[in-house]
Amino acid sequence: MKITDHINNANGKTLFSFEIVPPVKGKSIQELYKNIDPLMEFKPPFIDVTTSREEYIYKEKDGLLDKKLTRTRPGTLGICASLKHKYDVDTVPHVLCGGFTKEETEYLLVDCQYLEIENVMALRGDARKEERYFTPTKGGHQYATELVKQIKDINEGNYLHDSIESSDCGDFCIGVAGYPEKHMEAPSLQSDLKRLKEKVEFGADYVVTQMFFDNQKFFEFEKAAREMGIDVPIIPGIKPIAVKRHLQLLPQVFSIDLPQDLIDAVEACKTNQEVRQVGVEWAIQQSKELKEAGVPVLHYYSMGKSDNVKAIAKELF
Ligand SMILES: Cc1cc2nc3c(=O)[nH]c(=O)nc-3n(C[C@H](O)[C@H](O)[C@H](O)COP(=O)(O)OP(=O)(O)OC[C@H]3O[C@@H](n4cnc5c(N)ncnc54)[C@H](O)[C@@H]3O)c2cc1C
Repeated sequence: MKITDHINNANGKTLFSFEIVPPVKGKSIQELYKNIDPLMEFKPPFIDVTTSREEYIYKEKDGLLDKKLTRTRPGTLGICASLKHKYDVDTVPHVLCGGFTKEETEYLLVDCQYLEIENVMALRGDARKEERYFTPTKGGHQYATELVKQIKDINEGNYLHDSIESSDCGDFCIGVAGYPEKHMEAPSLQSDLKRLKEKVEFGADYVVTQMFFDNQKFFEFEKAAREMGIDVPIIPGIKPIAVKRHLQLLPQVFSIDLPQDLIDAVEACKTNQEVRQVGVEWAIQQSKELKEAGVPVLHYYSMGKSDNVKAIAKELF
């Protein structure tokens, strides 16, 4: 079922969902199941599965370092298919511009059709680790807008090299990313919102936001988006802080601010177990306020262990 249908069918009730990251290549899927199992009692209508950019690894060969480009966490679509099969839940693969040609993207979308995966998140992807700026892959897309257009074209039966007049053409529900504190490369929040509006005009059906820790930022972003005419569901993304290092890491990687009260509470912790508890309590407060405000879904970034997301879900769903 489409995410937008799940939202419509909920009749104003806030739904629970989460995002998972594929395991490192070579690790079994059982570890993933162990983390997902405890969350299924909260009946997520959908689970997102991220896609990781390829990266350079270095191997020593004959005294020299051999540079190889590889994806350390492949398997997004395979994981989507197995979760769908195992839990009877909708799964949302993240589809990236970076690292994929338009042809490869088309093949991926065709696979989604055969697997009856109806929802996809269309994302540009970050720059590769060693790059300062995002460089589009040769034969790929530069911005998520172009990817949204390609998916929308498939929905209309227009594949890259063929038009198919058939009722079997794609019928994807398309999610895109939104940034309550603006995307790190955008010159202003207003200009980033204009880009978001373009994604919606090109065919995006819903927005999932970057993590944020101050609900006010989300409410202001949502208001500005509505004033600009963005009328699709906006789903807040919530991440519970889990380790002290997040205080430096999250602002650096995601270009977001952390509220001083949260920083003080985390800094006062003596162990990472205490930090985890602070992160859970903060996320519960955030989630309660967002739920009261009527957000359609609370979407949690669950990286690795799910005990903290379970503790939050228990209070809310
Ligand atoms: C919910 C969510 C899930 C994510 N999942 C993943 C994932 O699985 N894998 C991954 O690698 N990354 C993921 N990301 C990160 C995302 O790929 C990065 O934030 C990336 O840098 C931007 O992606 P985007 O789709 O927002 O890009 P875009 O919408 O293309 O925007 C990128 C930047 O370009 C600007 N821009 C857009 N169009 C134009 C234009 N025509 N001209 C000039 N500027 C323009 C925007 O303002 C923005 O600053 C996710 C992010 C979110 C919020």
